[in-house]
Amino acid sequence: MADSVGFDDLATMLRAAAAKVVSEHATLSRLDSATGDGDHGTTMRRAMMVGLRAMDTCTSRDLAALLNDVGWAILGVDGGATGPLLGTFFIGMSEAAGGRQMLDAPALAEVFEGAVAAVRRQTKAQVGDKTMIDALVPAVEALRAAAKAGEGPRAALAKAAEAAARGAASTKDLRAKFGRARNLGDRSIGSPDPGATSVSLLFRGFADAIAAR
Ligand code: ADP
Ligand code: MG
Repeated sequence: MADSVGFDDLATMLRAAAAKVVSEHATLSRLDSATGDGDHGTTMRRAMMVGLRAMDTCTSRDLAALLNDVGWAILGVDGGATGPLLGTFFIGMSEAAGGRQMLDAPALAEVFEGAVAAVRRQTKAQVGDKTMIDALVPAVEALRAAAKAGEGPRAALAKAAEAAARGAASTKDLRAKFGRARNLGDRSIGSPDPGATSVSLLFRGFADAIAAR
């Protein structure tokens, strides 16, 4: 159905998001070199590779099962903050999906809101603290607004990706309040947050995958 996201659509979204992050991993590490320890790109690439492998070995065609497998695989990726936060994101999506197999735009918004709620249980970071939250929250708010306005998954995800990109760009002028970058104080200002940039790449992948189907 054109106005819903089913199993194959979700799988395509996840693969496109992974491809996007993998292709940009050098940029992500460069950003992390400015404000952290320079490993964000390699950690994200590793997270995407284990996520893809989990998709390959998932025998179920249940949306929640796929997201759960991907989330748990990513949760196990060592190397700092990213594995737990990103793994939690996909597990949160899985829990919110429940038994649904076709997600229209409002259901898709609900699933992503579940992901945000799960991540928020792991971190107290708010919008403006220069973390992945700065891309994640506006992306999901834009998705919900588009769904409320009656738009389908394609337009809603496009708006989410644009909001995520704006959110990631906005972190450039912020001072980090969480993570390693926090230690830099004012010196963290001037470079975008790597985690927020990753989230914007994920949403770009999600949106492009649905736009291309
Ligand atoms: P590490 O900082 O442990 O080396 P990464 O480099 O992979 O981990 O990821 C850094 C990114 O993780 C940051 O850019 C930020 O977006 C996110 N991050 C780190 N700590 C937190 C936190 N406490 N809350 C939310 N996001 C965080
Ligand atoms: Mg790092």
